[in-house]
Amino acid sequence: MTQVSERLASLSPSETLAMSQKSNELKAQGIDVINLSVGEPDFFTPNHIKEAAKKAIDSNFSFYSPVPGYMDLRKAIADKLKRENDLEYTTDQIIVSGGAKQSVCNALLSIVGPGDEVIVPAPYWVSYVEMVKLAEGTNVIIEAGIEQDFKITPAQLEKAVTPKTKALILCSPSNPTGSVYSKEELEGLAGVLAKHPNIIVLSDEIYEHINYIGKHESIAQFDAVKDRVVVINGVSKAYAMTGWRIGFIAAPLWIAKACNKLQGQYTSGPCSIAQKASVAAFNGPQECVDEMRTAFLRRRDLVIKLCRDIPGIRFSVPQGAFYLFPEVDAYFGKSAGARKIENASDLAMYLLETAHVATVGGAAFGAPKCLRLSYATSDENLTEAIARIRQALAALE
Ligand code: PMP
Ligand code: GLU
Repeated sequence: MTQVSERLASLSPSETLAMSQKSNELKAQGIDVINLSVGEPDFFTPNHIKEAAKKAIDSNFSFYSPVPGYMDLRKAIADKLKRENDLEYTTDQIIVSGGAKQSVCNALLSIVGPGDEVIVPAPYWVSYVEMVKLAEGTNVIIEAGIEQDFKITPAQLEKAVTPKTKALILCSPSNPTGSVYSKEELEGLAGVLAKHPNIIVLSDEIYEHINYIGKHESIAQFDAVKDRVVVINGVSKAYAMTGWRIGFIAAPLWIAKACNKLQGQYTSGPCSIAQKASVAAFNGPQECVDEMRTAFLRRRDLVIKLCRDIPGIRFSVPQGAFYLFPEVDAYFGKSAGARKIENASDLAMYLLETAHVATVGGAAFGAPKCLRLSYATSDENLTEAIARIRQALAALE
């Protein structure tokens, strides 16, 4: 008998990971697929970080670490938050986990229960709504379309709040849209939250360093909300360390304690070697971060230039992260031979199978008219991929 729990039955698999897997399977069959689906830097982890990991192995960091992470790592994170964000946290407010993904889930499982509402602005990162479901909470979606650069307004937030609202999830710079909230925009949202002192804000700042418009702004800087913001971040994007699996929260002590308890029962502390590598990432030279941002900006400009005059697609220029999120609904209802494109998932599948370019349909991000393209790949790959997309779209009638 195979009978998964109701909780699992209602959970959707991660579409970003599924499309990437499909693309890897086609590649394994010898097909020349260009993968613009998964969002991860294509750079290698910088050498000084790898050296720190090698040293950790030779120094026998092979035992369980403390559940919330090694003290030197939590100290390096507290220092980073002070240095880069002007935020004050003690080391016991910081819990290191196996990735920002786990940190979001830890925080949600720690504070959300049946009947609690979590406000999630759409477009959203695929995993938020599924994690809220895991926590048996209710998603309350606020739609923010392309005409408002995919960002919610204070009035929209105010309207979505009910006595049951437990949390709001913010992501800036955003996956999947690349939008970045300005300080003033965050202040506007904080102003609404000031009137609702029980709402906790999960602020996912994993793309902090991939920001093309200047200094990163965190909602945690505002007095009205700072004692109820959970800052979520990690090393995956800034230091090209997706496989090392290290993320963290910086949170009010009661939430940090709850996440520590949760983690102590189901994962223990994260990988000891990866933690030591992360100490080097936070404490070491930061030029690597700037170099990668510069490369992402060049690629963004290239992708925009190449996509600008593709008929029927419309996009807002991303100001951060490494995604382009065009509206592609002008192609819905069109066909290539017997193949009819009903929605963005059909289009993503068509592009994968005929143009051999992997993308992700927008439905998984709460934006069914859109398609997500990750431009975290080489200029050559991007040029070739967009040419193939252009040709495949032109073949639809
Ligand atoms: N948040 C967002 C918005 C993301 O795009 C990702 C994707 N990697 C994560 C969290 C998870 O990152 P990590 O690799 O640290 O788990
Ligand atoms: N965050 C990345 C993405 O959106 C990685 C995949 C995932 O963790 O879902 O593609």
